Amino acid sequence: MKGKKNVEDVNAYIKKISDCNGWKVNFNKNILLYLAEGLRDNFNRLGYYNCPCRDSQEDPKIDRDIICPCRYAQADIEEYGHCYCALYFDSKYDQNLPLKMIPERRP
Ligand code: SF4
Repeated sequence: MKGKKNVEDVNAYIKKISDCNGWKVNFNKNILLYLAEGLRDNFNRLGYYNCPCRDSQEDPKIDRDIICPCRYAQADIEEYGHCYCALYFDSKYDQNLPLKMIPERRP
């Protein structure tokens, strides 16, 4: 079993992913903390960063497409300006605008 993660670990992971992709993270600290806690809990329960907004099947092979950053994040950010959970945003997106309801791309 991999080591347990805390919120600081998850925030470092989120920052690395956002920097690598040129994305921004949600500027609302409460939402960011809520999502980071969800990722932390999923990692500590499952051993991988299952999307905090989607149910896990508790099998990394089945959940592979929804391990954060999910397979759908890039397309959602390009089309809607942010990912399904609103964790990651296009760097040019105005986060003061209301969030968009994103249809689930997962088959
Ligand atoms: S929707 Fe966002 S938070 Fe959820 S897995 Fe995809 S990139 Fe991560």
